Amino acid sequence: MVKLKPEEERRRLVEALQAYGALRSPKVIRAMLKVPREMFVLESMKDRAYDDTPLPILSGQTISAPHMVAMMSELLELEAGHRVLEVGAGSGYHAAVVAEIIAPEEAENKGHVYTVEILPELVRFASENLEKTSYAKVVTVIQGDGSRGLPSHAPFDRIFVTASAPSVPPPLVEQLKPGGILVIPVGGAYISQTLRTVKKRQDGQVESSDLMGVAFVPLRGEYGWKS
Ligand code: SAH
Repeated sequence: MVKLKPEEERRRLVEALQAYGALRSPKVIRAMLKVPREMFVLESMKDRAYDDTPLPILSGQTISAPHMVAMMSELLELEAGHRVLEVGAGSGYHAAVVAEIIAPEEAENKGHVYTVEILPELVRFASENLEKTSYAKVVTVIQGDGSRGLPSHAPFDRIFVTASAPSVPPPLVEQLKPGGILVIPVGGAYISQTLRTVKKRQDGQVESSDLMGVAFVPLRGEYGWKS
């Protein structure tokens, strides 16, 4: 079998995600075409970097499937200049895709992504991956319990959580700016999860909508799963 170049594999994956409806807007398409997923997976998984599937990373965690990264990035309605909080850095891949949208090279008004990760081994993995792909300038990895948000850097225009919570952690809603959007999987620790969007209106009222069934690893910490 002829081995394709990563750029070619990436282009094919993006076309498939567009056909499937997971990718729609030019800025998310551009970001998914640009970020090298092969640089965010384990050496042993490099051949599978462009399969549309989650892959194991360290400490029993997973890098989300590309269609999930695409869909969540679309739901966030990201704009250049946004301050974004991610809970669950993992490999750093999703943070890099969001960084491409909120801080593109040519933008004068660059946004920033803060990504909180609870496991030290993954803080190191994400930091190294973001460093070697040059996203470390616009993505800051912080070790801690992201179920409490990141009060020292709040408020945020957008917040997304890449592990499943029993319910929406109140600090995340508090740390959202008026007009802000939060995207989070909620439900069981491993089963029956739903992807929820929470929008904070200008008057501070929140509106939630549930989109579809999803499968994420459990959120730990104060507002996560205890066992
Ligand atoms: N967004 C990641 C996918 C990460 S998987 C990527 O693009 O690769 C979910 C991650 O959430 C795991 O790394 C897990 O350790 C982390 N996590 C779980 N509970 C957390 C918490 N309370 N605070 C911060 N990170 C948490």
